[in-house]
Order: sequence, then structure tokens, then C-alpha cells
Amino acid sequence: MSPIDEEQMQGLKGVRDFLRVRTSYDVLPLSFRLIILDNDLLIRKSLAILTQNGIVSAPLWDSQNSRFAGLLTSTDYINLIQYYCQFPEQIDNVEKFRLSSLRDIEKAIGVLPLETVSVHPSKPLYEACSRMLRSRARRIPLVDTDDETGRETVVSVITQYRILKFIAVNTEPHTALLRKSVREINLGTYKNLSIASMNSSVLDVIDLMVTRNISAVPIVDKNNVVLNVFEAVDVIPCIKGGNYDELKSTVGEALSKRADDFPGIYTCQEDDRLDSIFTTLRQSRVHRIIVIDEGSHLKGIISLSDILKYVLFHGDEGGYFPPAS
Ligand code: ADP
Repeated sequence: MSPIDEEQMQGLKGVRDFLRVRTSYDVLPLSFRLIILDNDLLIRKSLAILTQNGIVSAPLWDSQNSRFAGLLTSTDYINLIQYYCQFPEQIDNVEKFRLSSLRDIEKAIGVLPLETVSVHPSKPLYEACSRMLRSRARRIPLVDTDDETGRETVVSVITQYRILKFIAVNTEPHTALLRKSVREINLGTYKNLSIASMNSSVLDVIDLMVTRNISAVPIVDKNNVVLNVFEAVDVIPCIKGGNYDELKSTVGEALSKRADDFPGIYTCQEDDRLDSIFTTLRQSRVHRIIVIDEGSHLKGIISLSDILKYVLFHGDEGGYFPPAS
């Protein structure tokens, strides 16, 4: 093994050991807010609440049975859009749907219900990460049981983003050893990329995200130069006003609805090293990295799950059992 390989393995081991001795509680800030939505809320209202609070997901609460009822995410809105496309005559009912109807919508459009995985906040962070990766969930609710009542309590939700940020901020001596390049470790996806243009319709891009089970589609020009990225969360502003016809508009129009403080997209080149990716994760709000060449042509895409999977399981393939799909 070359010295750079040895250091890489040493760095990975350092991060893994850290994740084994830290818990999800450690990731949570000292003080935070948690917005939980009642399962009986109208879907239309949930959209307004998410937007007003600047969040893109929330745990659901079944107040009749005092139980955690799963996590509301942009996938649920995408399912609702698929439902509207398949049953356009139901548009008046779509307005009346409550969050509790989401499971019926999944059934009607024939998608498998999302696994409602959760993790206890005092379990090792390593376990929360592996559960997330195995179930392909991008966020996982932390559910505890109240000692007195024996009832479930949703403590918070942790995301792949927060975990990677936590690793980047707290394990710098280890991540600094990860000096192999993106190309050398083959990080990300480079073949069969799903792409769209500024003139593609939002509906077509949603279709791509659903069929490929991905959370973002790079937007390129006719020369394959990267112009932007359409993300699953970008559908929320499109349907917020209840006008589903807006989905027939173009990606360019939809992207112009982004909040003014949208941080932009992050790119890297294939020669960039993993340690520099961790520096970017430490400093910025990154949800994926688009790999480009010197001329900004699209080469690949590195998702947070690609990074987390590499950090947890590289060289230890037995530790990761991908779900049968
Ligand atoms: P995450 O789980 O971090 O939200 P995605 O669901 O977008 O990431 O990505 C899942 C997998 O699909 C990753 O391996 C990623 O590299 C790949 N991927 C992401 N976007 C695309 C795309 N537009 N085309 C092809 N593959 C993609």
C-alpha cells in the first residue's frame, strides 16, 4: 500500500471511530426548534407552513393515537404531483387532501411507501448513518420513548447534510488525511447522468427524479455546460399557490422562484481531493457537488450519500447491504 493509501485508510478509520463514539444527540445544537405537523392538517396548508418557516421537511404526528406518523418530505409533494398527473379530474379533491391521505396517494400511484425508519438519539451515530444509507433516506427522525408515559417522542430529525457537516467540523485531523482525488476513489456517478435543459418542463424533470430515484438533475446547455441544478425541493414553490398548471412551465421559470438567499451550486473537478471536499462541507451549505471540467462541461455528480457511503464503508464492503431494488 502506498503512503497516500495508508493515510487515506487511517483517515477513514479515524472518522469511523469518531462516529462510533458519538451519538445523534451530539449532532444536535444546544438549542433548536422542531416543527411537527399534525397528520390531520390539509396538505395545502403544510406547504405554506414549510415555506414560512424556511424548512423542507417535518415529522408528522398522529394526534388520535399519540404516535409518530412518519416524515413529510419533498418526495410526498412529488407523489402528489404524480397523482395529479394520473388523475387530473381529481384536482378539486387534491385541495382537500390531508397529510394523512399521503399513504393513499402512494397506493393510488403505485409507489412503495417510504420505509418509516427512525433511530434512538442515544444510539451511535454510525448506526444512524448506516440505517439512513441502507434505507436510502436522506434524513432520519430521532425517536425516543418517554419514561413516564411510555409514549414516543420525536426529539429531532438529522440529515445526511448535518452529519457530514459534523464530521467536517469535528474530525479535521482525520479528513485532512483523505488526500486521494475524486477520480482515484471514483466518488460519485459519471455514467447515464440524468440531465435537463432550461426549456425542459418541470413535470419532465420530476419524472426523471422519480424514475431514477435521485434528488437533483443538472441543467445544461446544448454544449453540456452546467447552468444550474434542479432539486427536489424546488417543486415546493411551484405548487405552493395551488396552481398545478405551473408545473407545465419550464425549469428556467421555476428556478427564478428560488429564495433570494439561495446559496448557489457547488462544483469540483475530478482532480480535486476528498480533503478539499470536506473543507467545502465545513464552510458551506452543500447538498451535492457537480463535477465539471475546465470548460464547465458536466462530468458527474457527487451526492451526499456517495460521500457518506465512501466514508463509512469503503474497504469494508461487507458493512453495507444495499436495499434490493
Ligand atoms: P442523496 O441521496 O444524497 O440525496 P441522490 O438521491 O441525488 O443523492 O443520489 C443517489 C445516487 O444517484 C448517487 O449515487 C448519485 O451519484 C446518483 N445521482 C444523483 N443525481 C444523478 C443524476 N442527475 N443522474 C445520474 N445519477 C445521479
